[in-house]
Amino acid sequence: MDVRQIYMDANAMLEGHFKLSSGNHSQYYLQSAKVLEDPKTAKLLADALAKQIKATGLEIDTVCAPALGGLIAGFALATALDKRSIFAERVNGEMQIRRGFEIKAGEKVIVCEDIITTGGSAMEAAKAIEALGGIVVGFAALANRGFCKRDGSELSRKVNCALPEEKPLFALADFDFEMYAPDACPLCVNGSEAIKPGSRGN
Ligand code: ZN
Repeated sequence: MDVRQIYMDANAMLEGHFKLSSGNHSQYYLQSAKVLEDPKTAKLLADALAKQIKATGLEIDTVCAPALGGLIAGFALATALDKRSIFAERVNGEMQIRRGFEIKAGEKVIVCEDIITTGGSAMEAAKAIEALGGIVVGFAALANRGFCKRDGSELSRKVNCALPEEKPLFALADFDFEMYAPDACPLCVNGSEAIKPGSRGN
């Protein structure tokens, strides 16, 4: 499966000057919502991801997605795995499990994002799950931006990966894009302004 081609065909691989959720800047942004607007494509990707996860024999009770970005990918993966689907959401800056979702002591949860960059939001969701007694058994995403190491990839982990080394990350592809701290961004040096994807109609 050529995930890069799927993103390109959906006009979901944006080029410009973007501010990522981590606060870092990048020339590229993967607008997964554009890929997932076609439920058939969402199912295709989630089925492939589920197959990869099942092949490892990892035991999972529940899929938890950090809102908003992970919602559709998380639901699609839970459907493909035939597991419970819940989400975490940020309230006053803090990732929380709300909506009456319960997590049993020892419940095995996989955290699913659309894209894993540094894994910051996924880790915040993982902490919220563990605070309620759940066990985070791994992480999943449609694609990995190349900072964390996904299962089966040759790319090595970079220092700014926030995910724990001992837990698996499943993703369908690596997009090895550069990312810059705002004070060291060559695009800013050239005078353009970083745009937060989702704002200004993009
Ligand atoms: Zn910049």
